Amino acid sequence: MSDILGIVLHDSDCEEIRTAGYDFYVCRDGTVIPSHQFTADDYLHIVIEGHFGAPRTDLGVLHEQMFVLVKLIIKLAKAFDMVPHEIISHGDECPGPEFPWHELTVRIDRLPH
Ligand SMILES: [Zn+2]
Repeated sequence: MSDILGIVLHDSDCEEIRTAGYDFYVCRDGTVIPSHQFTADDYLHIVIEGHFGAPRTDLGVLHEQMFVLVKLIIKLAKAFDMVPHEIISHGDECPGPEFPWHELTVRIDRLPH
């Protein structure tokens, strides 16, 4: 049993992940890259590759990326014995305001867990 409290989401514009690191990086094509150096934190940090500061463009979350993100969150929630809804944004600007939170939470609800 671990003391992980939840999951923090970042986008790839985040400055802090360059210094503080991250745990998983979800690429646009759906590839998940686990970090070699886990953040020593009470939270797991997941980076979504993309820029969400402006309204949806072709750089937004792609279908496959969102699918993989949802599966990753549910897997981690199981592994660390936490509620999959314990996902928080890093800050007001990270992920950017255009990140599709609604789509994410709806998809998490829809999957059996
Ligand atoms: Zn961030």
